[in-house]
Amino acid sequence: MELLGKEECGVANESELKLLRLLIPVAKLYSAKQAIAVASEALEAFGGAGYLEDTGLPRLLRDAQVLSIWEGTTNILSLDALRAIERSDVLGEWLSDVRRRLGGVKRPGLSPCIEQTLSALLRIEQYAARAGKAGAEFQQAGARGFAYAIARTEAAALLVEHADALNDDAVAVTSASRWCARELAPLVEADAEHREGSQFVVRTAIPE
Ligand SMILES: Cc1cc2nc3c(=O)[nH]c(=O)nc-3n(C[C@H](O)[C@H](O)[C@H](O)COP(=O)(O)OP(=O)(O)OC[C@H]3O[C@@H](n4cnc5c(N)ncnc54)[C@H](O)[C@@H]3O)c2cc1C
Repeated sequence: MELLGKEECGVANESELKLLRLLIPVAKLYSAKQAIAVASEALEAFGGAGYLEDTGLPRLLRDAQVLSIWEGTTNILSLDALRAIERSDVLGEWLSDVRRRLGGVKRPGLSPCIEQTLSALLRIEQYAARAGKAGAEFQQAGARGFAYAIARTEAAALLVEHADALNDDAVAVTSASRWCARELAPLVEADAEHREGSQFVVRTAIPE
């Protein structure tokens, strides 16, 4: 939001514009998916009543579902993030930016979170190098997992920064710790064997 505000006011520098170009599709695709999952949990929390139209709750789920369709589906936004990475060094800019931000965190209690986030950054960097060599089919087949990895890792960095900024806020530290304890960068090795497996599953599930 801060980057978008700067861009709209014409005060974003070149580095910030690069970050924005990458993070817009990534934020859109990941927050849309999260909204659906959260709306679904909210319905379930009401038990059977949550499924009934007259509670108004099913509408929340239906409305959330549109987020991952209009203004770009998850696949298309993942490809858009890939396109941004191909056109200029937005990935390198983002990796440096997150590392710099984590370097400024002072609370010792956040060290495990920082380690987990740095390790995810390294996996993303190494994966991008491998994918770059493997070619377009590999990159495109793995684009969704790659975008999710960037989104989760950026969210980790934001939660860590937030917890660092709030003095002794146990909720913020616990939230950051729990987020960072999950697999931040589960990347898909979309090599020829993987892609063949996907095609086989589709052909079997949907016979011609
Ligand atoms: C409520 C609502 C309001 C809308 N308002 C507007 C509007 O104001 N203006 C406007 O222009 N449009 C609008 N749309 C249309 C919207 O932009 C499209 O529905 C959306 O972009 C998806 O395109 P599509 O429906 O053609 O699906 P398709 O492109 O056919 O996609 C179907 C599926 O295939 C996948 N897919 C497609 N291409 C690829 C690919 N190359 N690689 C991998 N997967 C792929 C998609 O991810 C999706 O899962 C609206 C849609 C809705 C539901």
